[in-house]
Amino acid sequence: MKYDVIIVGAGPAGSLLALELGLAGRHVLLLDGSKFPREKVCGEGMMPQGVQILQERGFVSDSLEAGYRFFGIRYTVPGGPKASAYFPSSDILPNYGVAMRRVSLDQALLEQCKKLPGIELRLGVFVEALSWSDKGIPRVSGGGVEASGDFVVGADGSGSVVRRLANLEGVAPGKTRWAVRGHFSHAPRSIERPQVEVIMVNDREMYLTPLSSTSTGVIMTLGQDQLKGIQGRITAALLETLKLSGDGFCMELSRSELISRVQATGPLGVPAKSSFGPRLLLVGDAAGALDPITGEGLSISLKSSVLAAQTIHGAFEESDFGLKRLRSYHKTRLKSIRELSMLTSLVLWLSQHPQLAHRIIGNLGQQPATFSKLLGIAAGTYGIRSLSPRDACRIVLGI
Ligand SMILES: Cc1cc2nc3c(=O)[nH]c(=O)nc-3n(C[C@H](O)[C@H](O)[C@H](O)COP(=O)(O)OP(=O)(O)OC[C@H]3O[C@@H](n4cnc5c(N)ncnc54)[C@H](O)[C@@H]3O)c2cc1C
Repeated sequence: MKYDVIIVGAGPAGSLLALELGLAGRHVLLLDGSKFPREKVCGEGMMPQGVQILQERGFVSDSLEAGYRFFGIRYTVPGGPKASAYFPSSDILPNYGVAMRRVSLDQALLEQCKKLPGIELRLGVFVEALSWSDKGIPRVSGGGVEASGDFVVGADGSGSVVRRLANLEGVAPGKTRWAVRGHFSHAPRSIERPQVEVIMVNDREMYLTPLSSTSTGVIMTLGQDQLKGIQGRITAALLETLKLSGDGFCMELSRSELISRVQATGPLGVPAKSSFGPRLLLVGDAAGALDPITGEGLSISLKSSVLAAQTIHGAFEESDFGLKRLRSYHKTRLKSIRELSMLTSLVLWLSQHPQLAHRIIGNLGQQPATFSKLLGIAAGTYGIRSLSPRDACRIVLGI
């Protein structure tokens, strides 16, 4: 069977792209190796830019409304400095993010795909092969399905098979980072403007995302060697680290009820060499994932799908499926995340130098306006040039 577009992976990036194309009348085959609803290890805090993309399109308005709003980020070094900031108010983006379980968000997007007649959805189909016909038409197969399309899009996440089959793998960092995640149910917390909390515990970070007043998702990041050391006992290790933190709420969580199976994932931040090939695009994490340390993965994944949809529309409208247009998608995508990538690398580097990181958290704690500006840069409200030399002195030297 021949389709206009075959999308491999029905996570947020794949589903949003399918919706954009389906609404424009394209015949789309959307494949996913998993049966939904499915879990995905994630911090589950969608930043303002991702919220805006979904709000503008109205696909999952009810789910977004039902999600839990958070308004900023708080860093804590237990027994040491703290820094707290809120997303800046602006005309460009909402001043809040939305936290919701991925099992719900991804399902909600998929339900919308099911409603569009132009989208054929096949779940439990894991794509294993990719080839091109003599005429250059791409073809995928796996799980009993064989199909060709004018375009193939890899939206199959950070371990993308499409990326590997298209020879677009990037060079992975030498030292890999991994993550362990659990969800907890706890006594009601009454916080006027909830924030995502980042607690630094020795050489680990704990990310606490408030999912409701009585439930919190916890991500613990750690190095490959540390992960080896806790293999077979990740639940116990997560609870121990919560206890070890000495932070009051973490200690409470360590005694609270776990409401999901604790899961590990990684490596984090897997890069791609490029995000296009002949009649092929990569979107979302498949196009190269940033380390989740700045929490923007969903936003940039959704943005890449919007860009990919525009690129594919243009190709059909002008009957031009050449590489030039696809290269332009690649460049625009890279440009849109350049500043965030710089910030992510900087925060990642700091996380590996805890003494300095603690000092900077202390400095930011004294300068909430500068910290808020940094959040605005990560979210895309401001450009990196909005940081003045004075801001830099405040961050680094605390003066
Ligand atoms: C520890 C961690 C914490 C994070 N925290 C945050 C956060 O707080 N906020 C945020 O915005 N982002 C966060 N992210 C990033 C976010 O999770 C990703 O950016 C997002 O999930 C990317 O969506 P996607 O649709 O590209 O891929 P995915 O959500 O991974 O979906 C890919 C889909 O492809 C399917 N698939 C894979 N291979 C195949 C195949 N061969 N054939 C068919 N189907 C296939 C999978 O079953 C899956 O459903 C975090 C990531 C991690 C790892």
